[in-house]
Order: sequence, then C-alpha cells, then structure tokens
Amino acid sequence: MIDKLVRKNIKALKSYTSARMLYQSGVFFDANENALGSTVALDGFPELNRYPDPYSRKLRAALGKYLGINDKNIFAGNGSDEIIDLLIRIFVEPSESVIVLEPTYGVYKVAADTAGVRVRTCSLNNEFQIDIPSVLEAISSSAKIIFCCSPNNPTGNLLREEDIELLCKKFKGIVVVDEAYIEFATKPSLAKKISEFENLVVLRTFSKIWGLAGIRVGYCIADSRVIQYLDKIKAPYNVNRISSALAISALGEKDKIAEFRNIILKERERMAKRLQEMQFTVYPSDANFLLVKYPAASTIAKKLAGESALIIREFGNKKLLENCVRISIATPEQNNVLLKAIRKLV
Ligand code: PMP
Repeated sequence: MIDKLVRKNIKALKSYTSARMLYQSGVFFDANENALGSTVALDGFPELNRYPDPYSRKLRAALGKYLGINDKNIFAGNGSDEIIDLLIRIFVEPSESVIVLEPTYGVYKVAADTAGVRVRTCSLNNEFQIDIPSVLEAISSSAKIIFCCSPNNPTGNLLREEDIELLCKKFKGIVVVDEAYIEFATKPSLAKKISEFENLVVLRTFSKIWGLAGIRVGYCIADSRVIQYLDKIKAPYNVNRISSALAISALGEKDKIAEFRNIILKERERMAKRLQEMQFTVYPSDANFLLVKYPAASTIAKKLAGESALIIREFGNKKLLENCVRISIATPEQNNVLLKAIRKLV
C-alpha cells in the first residue's frame, strides 16, 4: 500500500548519495570539509569540522532502545516540523490534498500550502474530538494525508484512540498522529500500533517534555517503507552532530523527565483552579498548556504583553476558539507572576 501512495516523481527519484553514507571511518578526502580543524571549539565535540552521520544511526538506535521499537521504524529530523514537510512532499501530488482537523497546530496547513497541495479542513466537534462523519466524507476525495494531533494543540485534549484506529482502517492514505505532547498525557503513545497499521505515522519531539526545543530534534515512528522514503528525500545531513549527541544523552535522563512531568502536571492543576476562580472557562488538558476562555480574552492577552511583558497565545475569533487564549505552564514562580497580573486585569 505504501508504494502506491507515493508521488510518481519521488518513486522515480535518484536520491543524493555521498561517500559518507557508505564509509563512517577512515581518513576522509570525500566531502570537502576542512581537515585542519574547526574555527571554534566545543568541549566534547572534537569533530565539528566533519559532517554528521547522514542517517543519525546512533540516535535512531538510542531511540529504538528507549521506545522498544526497531530502528528500521524510526526517522530523526530537524524538529518534527521537518518531518511534516517531508511527509507532504513524499505523498501528496499538487492535485491532491491533506486533511487538517481544525483548530490544530498551524504548521500542517502552512507546510501543505508551501508545497502547493490542497488543504481540506474538517472542524473538530464541540468536544474537540474528530467529527467522524465529516472526516469519512473528506477521505473519500483526493486526500493523501490526515493530520491528527493528540494531545491536540491548542485544545489540549487527547483524540479518541478508537477514532484514530477507525481512520487507519478506513482511510487509504497516511494517518499522521502528532504526539508532541504525549508525555504529559494520561494515555500512552500509539507508537506500537505501527505494526498493526502500515499507514500510521507517529510524530514525537524533544522540544516539549525533554526541554530541548533549542536543539531541533524530532522523530517519527512508522512502517519501514515510510522511513525509507523519508531517507530518500531528506537533506543529506539533516540532524547535526551537537543536537544528535544531546538528544542521545537526554534519553538517559529518566529521573529528570519524571521530575518535569510531576511539576508541570501539578502546576497545570493549580493554574486551572486559580483561573477557574477568576471565572475563566478552563478546558481539560493532557498537555503542558491550558486553553482558557474569558470574555475579551484577547484584550487581556494584549495588556499582559504590553504592560507586563507576559506573553500568552491568542487566536482571534478562530472557529471554536472564540475568546480563547492558550497559556503554557511555566515555573511555579513565573506562573504566580502571570496569575497575579491576570488577577489585576479581570
Ligand atoms: N507538533 C505540535 C503539535 C507542536 O505544537 C509543535 C511545536 N509547537 C511541533 C509539532 C513542532 O515540534 P518540533 O519542535 O519538533 O519541530
């Protein structure tokens, strides 16, 4: 099925090759690097003058071990944003479309628009769940990818697993489940389901609970044929040496993750209570942020930024997000500052 879904030009593509794909050790005369050394030094990174491994093999192996999943089913990217872009370029012809379940993470639509493919929008229902009848209608068209974000940004809720599985069964295209926030959720990842559904691609990232948004590392778990196509079209050295090494060492920091999770979940609950006391409607969250509703919330957001340099995210009058703002859960001290400033404004 996967091969049939791939764009003709990608199937026919002869991918870029480099000697470094074949040889990882030796004296290198192959890639026009500077053999004399690098202009600046960073402790622990003696080979910054050399390109990184094109396939991020050590990182994929470490992720495989961490997740209990074969490395053949893992691809590492320059943030999961890169993988969203690559998936669209692999599967969606200009005459075809992607399905986006609004309101959701904005990059799916921007990446599709950039690639010049069509975007079909299906609104989530009032509970921010997938509206199955409208999605089933949309998938009968020329759609190639459906993006499901779970927990969803910006609504904060997990999408129902039964609905995602139904889509994997009924949709003859790729079902992307973006789990950027899954480590904050009450339910586990769907990553292991890739053995059941060849069209399922699960996106994960080091940008959220791992606290490494600055190094730009994301990854996906998918059928090995999807991984092969991602490898076929990615930029030659898409994950740099420093980011790769830091991501690998982060995977050993299980205690730190547990600590971050504890603090963020506790703070999430505390913030929700305090905001409810101030008459905000607070939506249930399985992520590291809260979606909250309040009359004239966007005025509050502007005043917080203008008067106190406290930045929260507003959505204008976007459907289902009228008068809503999204607040990331920060440190207890920063959260207190924000609560105090909001209290003054309401
Ligand atoms: N997916 C979702 C749902 C996100 O909210 C974000 C970042 N805000 C991303 C992906 C991007 O992740 P990365 O930093 O790995 O590119």
